[in-house]
Amino acid sequence: MPAIGVWMGILDRFRLDGRLALVTGAAGGLGAAIAVALAEAGASVACHGNRRAADETAERIRALGRDAASFAADLGAADGADRLYEAVAAKMGAPEILVNNAGMIYRDEAENYSAEAWMQVVQVNLNSVFRLSQLAGRAMLERRRGKIINIASLLAFQGGIRVPAYAASKGGVAQLTKALANEWAGRNVQVNAIAPGYFRTENTSALQKDETRSRQILDRIPAGRWGEPEDLAGAAVFLASPAGDYVTGEVLVVDGGWMAR
Ligand code: NAP
Repeated sequence: MPAIGVWMGILDRFRLDGRLALVTGAAGGLGAAIAVALAEAGASVACHGNRRAADETAERIRALGRDAASFAADLGAADGADRLYEAVAAKMGAPEILVNNAGMIYRDEAENYSAEAWMQVVQVNLNSVFRLSQLAGRAMLERRRGKIINIASLLAFQGGIRVPAYAASKGGVAQLTKALANEWAGRNVQVNAIAPGYFRTENTSALQKDETRSRQILDRIPAGRWGEPEDLAGAAVFLASPAGDYVTGEVLVVDGGWMAR
């Protein structure tokens, strides 16, 4: 990397030309918005989908003139992360940017929460995040350059209601982010998380439909509106780019002011 300030202008330091990114859960919602934003900044993108294929996102990216392909994997399966990483590496190469965005939520009272639901949420939201980070991280460490961005949640800080496995797994994601950042910072691999507030996606459709909860949520957001997936794009590009090279182990809240209140 050239010495900062010598010839790289500040906006150039946000560019991702020639980088390969892997974004999980990129078929829609926050993952699709992040994948497209990284491509707009210059990256090629491996777009992961599960039940819904990420073909449409890959198509949007190719229309921008960037390379993209879609990959399917169930990250709830014990070998899902390994299979996904192997398929991406074989077809597109080792990603220099990994966005662990795929996640699921299951709602029930803690006293009735099934062991099966608990295991599935933790597998998708935490175990697969660790395994993908480990696989992608090894190649990044060898290359001495890499960025990992984990999508956490406000429930990395707060307990939530009727979502014990989600809160526990997202709290784990925040701690894992710091643990990996500590080990890998000296080898130029930055590991950060983004904690989105309340965004309009499938993940929050139950809350959006519940008039009382929806009003309570809106009343507490200083910005006075739900987030749109594109509201996450700037933070993701920043953390993926050389502009963020001295930022690591951070959990960046993007929430319209919720946590400040
Ligand atoms: P979303 O549209 O439901 O996206 C979740 C993605 O995760 C989907 O693409 C889904 O794919 C994938 N996924 C779920 N289970 C999977 C599995 N077993 N294997 C592989 N992929 C799986 O919701 P979103 O809001 O964009 O969520 C993206 C991330 O942001 C999640 O980690 C979520 O926890 C986090 N988040 C969202 C909000 C919000 O307000 N929306 C707030 C805080 C954090 P399939 O549907 O195909 O299975």
